[in-house]
Amino acid sequence: MASELCKTISVARLEKHKNLFLNYRNLQHFPLELLKDEGLQYLERLYMKRNSLTTLPENLAQKLPNLVELYLHSNNIVVVPEAIGSLVKLQCLDLSDNALEIVCPEIGRLRALRHLRLANNQLQFLPPDLGRSRELQYVYVDNNIHLKGLPSFLYNKVIGCSGCGAPIQVSEVKLLSFSSGQLTVFLPAEVKAIGTEKDHILPLQELAMRTLHHTYHASLKDLDFLSPVSLPRSLLELLHCPLGHCHRCSEPMFTIVYPKLFPLRETPMAGLHQGRTTVSFVAYCCSTQCLQTFDLLS
Ligand SMILES: [Zn+2]
Repeated sequence: MASELCKTISVARLEKHKNLFLNYRNLQHFPLELLKDEGLQYLERLYMKRNSLTTLPENLAQKLPNLVELYLHSNNIVVVPEAIGSLVKLQCLDLSDNALEIVCPEIGRLRALRHLRLANNQLQFLPPDLGRSRELQYVYVDNNIHLKGLPSFLYNKVIGCSGCGAPIQVSEVKLLSFSSGQLTVFLPAEVKAIGTEKDHILPLQELAMRTLHHTYHASLKDLDFLSPVSLPRSLLELLHCPLGHCHRCSEPMFTIVYPKLFPLRETPMAGLHQGRTTVSFVAYCCSTQCLQTFDLLS
């Protein structure tokens, strides 16, 4: 089996193959043969789904520098090395059905990346900078039940998130809603209040949460080392995962949002749906000032 694998890889190396299929090989480790000498400099697509990989090599970008698509669906990958950020030509990365708890921020450095598939993992949060790149258009994060929020830069991307997050029993939780025209939008359960243009001062609880968030982020980076501050458990969890970030300034928000509703035809998403849906885009701002200056079209 191992020699057959070596043979497949050395043929691909000698004949300068652009595609290599290593699906269903029961691989526990990334094949060393792929990383030998100068690697496979011509390889553009590597298919390694349904193996048992737990990690990726640090020198992946050095040995496979021309990878455009990398398929790692259904492995046991726990950690993606920071070096992934050096795969400068990568356009499609599939890490669905793995054991990822964290995605390294370097994934946000992949400037050519268009498709990112992270469904069915154990993610709790995504790097805040993810989506800053214009190229990234499709992000799939379905079925990461601990994932409580998405980075604000993903607001105009195509997101797969059906079944994402713990299910909310609408009948048990009284959700706040707001209406604009004929449309009523229900807000996440954590939202305690809806701000309007008449409120000029934020509620004390919200101010306290934002100050704590800034303090701990500035001094400690890792909120897990938070000393036992006397916050109720529900607020402590919220401090780890703000319910969202302002679409205007990216400030985290905890208990209050200032919503604004844009009919779909006014958003950059309109072209994708070509009149087939009437869904609108809801933007959340952190304050009256941000709400007044937020305009999708500017
Ligand atoms: Zn803001």
